[in-house]
Amino acid sequence: CGIVGYIGENNCKDILLDGLEKLEYRGYDSAGIALLENNDVQVIKVKGRIAALREKVGTTAAGKVGIGHTRWATHGVPSETNAHPHQSASERFTLVHNGVIENYKELKKEYLQGVEFKSETDTEVVVQLIEKFNSESDDTAEAFRKVIRLLHGSYAFGLIDKENPETLYVAKNKSPLLIGVGKGFNVVASDAMATLKVTDQYVEIHDEEVVLLKKDSFTIMNLDGEEIEREPYTAELDM
Ligand code: GLU
Repeated sequence: CGIVGYIGENNCKDILLDGLEKLEYRGYDSAGIALLENNDVQVIKVKGRIAALREKVGTTAAGKVGIGHTRWATHGVPSETNAHPHQSASERFTLVHNGVIENYKELKKEYLQGVEFKSETDTEVVVQLIEKFNSESDDTAEAFRKVIRLLHGSYAFGLIDKENPETLYVAKNKSPLLIGVGKGFNVVASDAMATLKVTDQYVEIHDEEVVLLKKDSFTIMNLDGEEIEREPYTAELDM
């Protein structure tokens, strides 16, 4: 399973698909991408291979913000519906996740009574919670941190909020995720190999950190919202 995300000046469709292909070695049963363009999010997913996803995405899909995912099902059968990205009820928030949320049933019961779910995944609980908490404060970064503080388990997350198209929200705990720093864009990936074609500059994300990624800057913070400074390193890998 794996994640690729992009925010920048160019159409990222191929960066996402090429990146997911590089992550195929990690294993998966389904795959999907979301592209944000003109305050609208397009979600395209398949059960099966990246080649099939590429075909379904076609040539015209576009977005300067995007997230891609390969899924190794842990909660819910491998299917197109359970494939990521997942969206909140209003479709404002779109999330990809690698890992396992151990307390998703408890969270669903405590906070999301009456919310209609489309998938059987632990992940959908997280994106529905983000929408719920955001409706109380209308501060996406705060809602994201608040949800994360409630989670038990492992996660690498990439989150798009279509009301805040200049930010890609990212977090991790016990699942791999790195920031890749470009010129006029930034990316995230489970493995630098996925995005080496576009940059060799990477910044680690540590467990229980949230990152606000913009096209020419990034802010790493802890779950209390305190900022953390960290310098990039040069990745030297064979492609
Ligand atoms: N637990 C999530 C699911 O089953 C994510 C699995 C993964 O890491 O790909 O959908």
